[in-house]
Amino acid sequence: MIYADNAATTKMSEKAINTMVAMMNETYGNPSSLYEVGQKAKEVLEDARKQIAEKINADPKEIYFTSGGSEADNQAILSAAKLGEKDGKKHIVSSVFEHHAVLHTLERLKKEGFEITLVEVHDDGLVRPEEVEAALRDDTCLVTIMYANNEIGTIQPIKEIGEICRKRNILFHTDAVQAIGHVPIDVEKENIDMLSASAHKFHGPKGVGFLYVKRGIRLTNLIEGGAQERGKRAGTENVPGIAAMAVALEDACRNIEKNAKNVGEKRDKLIKALGEIPHSALNGDSTKRLYGNVSFCFEGIEGESLLLLLDDKGIQASSGSACTSGSLDPSHVMLAIGRPHEVAHGSLRLSIGDDITDKDVDYIVDSVKEVVEYLRGISPVWGDLKAGNREYIL
Ligand SMILES: *Cc1c(COP(=O)(O)O)cnc(C)c1O
Repeated sequence: MIYADNAATTKMSEKAINTMVAMMNETYGNPSSLYEVGQKAKEVLEDARKQIAEKINADPKEIYFTSGGSEADNQAILSAAKLGEKDGKKHIVSSVFEHHAVLHTLERLKKEGFEITLVEVHDDGLVRPEEVEAALRDDTCLVTIMYANNEIGTIQPIKEIGEICRKRNILFHTDAVQAIGHVPIDVEKENIDMLSASAHKFHGPKGVGFLYVKRGIRLTNLIEGGAQERGKRAGTENVPGIAAMAVALEDACRNIEKNAKNVGEKRDKLIKALGEIPHSALNGDSTKRLYGNVSFCFEGIEGESLLLLLDDKGIQASSGSACTSGSLDPSHVMLAIGRPHEVAHGSLRLSIGDDITDKDVDYIVDSVKEVVEYLRGISPVWGDLKAGNREYIL
């Protein structure tokens, strides 16, 4: 089996699993308890906070643990909105191809009277900083742009966007769930005020993540209760998960350079070989993308059928976001980069990990070629294209 859906989730690392099990066995106390096993858990928690903060050049006091990326996105955006509202600023700038954790939170704010401007994404899968700047208004309270897109893997000009926001004194949040542990991140240098992360995208456990919030920015609670996380996120902390997240992030960050080179080579090989399939196209810029992301559109086929047949061959891939698969609507990301509906349906996302071998790459290429050819052979749309009754789009 070849697992090529690391953008949906990753397999936990051995170290992260061992850390988690050790915590569950030994450090099971409640970090709020004053006796020894509680204080030990508290120590583990604070060590993890420190370790994680270091990875993005933040202060440990700026890290808030959450249940994952979606919660972090929600809390960051709702907090910025609350702060803006107090000053009479109810305008937010984001982009059309954000994760639904961002887009749906913005939808909710729209119903509460906020105005939302979504900047376009160009054919190369990139947002333009000058277009973000042009969208800013006197009443803009937040800009939220994802660090790397989860479907097409393109890495956004975060530092430049952050600089624009910093100059205008506007809060800047980035959903870095796909990027952290895969791209070096420095919140200081990149002018980031808030950043969301999730452990299960970098070989940590599911259901745990964090929100970085620059000191001085007041968070709004999503969950009320105890005084955990400096009163900003109630609930007994997920100590085993948090400890495992810290270990996983440490490993991921240490290996960024190595993976960028080794996995990046495999990515480029896949891009080159799959690009040889007639009437196919790579989605997003070929270099400004995550080292593990390969995203293609193939004309005349259905992504869903492609996935099922690849699954039969032992290849686990995706046609886009885990959140939209199972729905018949084409992905909002494919539409955002200008793929028409007909083509947007025929997309394939391979998100490879550091366990991929050259043999796997060859097998994937052969399998995709074979399956695309087979599906085109039985597709009425492809028949029309070949007969000249329809124009090729790709
Ligand atoms: C996976 C993902 C999320 C959601 O994170 P969860 O921890 O699963 O809630 C948010 N944003 C992006 C870009 C993601 O890839």
